[in-house]
Amino acid sequence: MIHTDVLIIGGGPAGSACARQLKQAHMRVILLDKVPFPRFKPCAGWVTPQVLKLVGMDEESYPLGLTEFKSFEMSIKGVQFRLPTHQFAIRRFEFDQWCLQKADPEFHVHEVHEICLEKGEYIVDGEFSAHYLVGAAGTHCPVTRTFFNQTSPRKQSALIVAQEEEFQYDVQDPRCSLWFFENKLPGYAWYVPKKYGFVNVGVGGSIEELKRRDDTLKNHWNFLVNRLEETGLIRGHVFKPAGHSYYLRQNLPEIRNGNAFLVGDALGLATLDMGEGIGPAIQSGQLAAEAIINGTDYSVDSIPRYSFPSLVGLRKK
Ligand SMILES: Cc1cc2nc3c(=O)[nH]c(=O)nc-3n(C[C@H](O)[C@H](O)[C@H](O)COP(=O)(O)OP(=O)(O)OC[C@H]3O[C@@H](n4cnc5c(N)ncnc54)[C@H](O)[C@@H]3O)c2cc1C
Repeated sequence: MIHTDVLIIGGGPAGSACARQLKQAHMRVILLDKVPFPRFKPCAGWVTPQVLKLVGMDEESYPLGLTEFKSFEMSIKGVQFRLPTHQFAIRRFEFDQWCLQKADPEFHVHEVHEICLEKGEYIVDGEFSAHYLVGAAGTHCPVTRTFFNQTSPRKQSALIVAQEEEFQYDVQDPRCSLWFFENKLPGYAWYVPKKYGFVNVGVGGSIEELKRRDDTLKNHWNFLVNRLEETGLIRGHVFKPAGHSYYLRQNLPEIRNGNAFLVGDALGLATLDMGEGIGPAIQSGQLAAEAIINGTDYSVDSIPRYSFPSLVGLRKK
């Protein structure tokens, strides 16, 4: 059995942010992920300047592909306009590996199946033990399943399903386009050109709403592919999309159970308007680390619920 102070399950932005902070406080950390890094993660990869700051970098110091957007080409139910913004797009394949390298925890490729608590120690698959356990393994995290589903069941109304593909393409249009609620999609579709000749396209929406309308995400994926072809944004590509699901922010009664903590998608923290989860994942990882280091309460109340709070405010008026 390998023993450590803190065992983190999952090496995405949440797990690596937590590991980085704990290591800086000289704690012994082991991070387990079911796959070696770099690894594929379905994600459009938008990040705000604040997210870059959270991981201690800016546009100059990030050594990998970073695309800057000063506006989005928006379409809401067919009404088109340009939304000024300041965001970046990273490639998750690169960014997550970079974050993990910065954190530099002891890393084991290991898919976690069984966790139990014995005499105050968390035992994982009979191979690893620790006094603290951090669940950072995304939507299907085994820590959520084992210690939280009974006390904090997640609402299906907050579940988003998404399909996307990132691939090399001779990009002609460098603008980022978003299409909201078109063809009755309860969500939005995107076209995000990235650095070094990559592009990410996808579609995501509420599974509950889709089911209620007897609709499917595949229908909306096909609609997007036709749009890309017709507008000339992408032509002649044979698509092989990947699917994934994750939860938007909810008010969960329990985010910590004893010395077991949930962070990132394992908790479900993506913003309620745009479904952005990278920033909340990093922030929650850091907050869990602070609680462990200082022996203080763990709260995610300080993490913003919206990507565009000003637009939400406008809508309410
Ligand atoms: C199609 C799509 C587009 C998105 N676009 C954006 C966007 O543009 N901007 C944004 O901010 N957010 C976006 N999101 C959300 C964002 O991807 C997530 O919120 C974010 O990745 C959460 O990070 P995490 O560290 O919690 O989990 P993850 O990044 O999912 O990392 C979890 C890790 O746990 C590992 N793991 C899983 N199970 C086990 C196990 N049993 N044992 C060991 N390891 C395990 C996995 O291999 C993985 O490496 C998007 C999501 C999707 C699906």
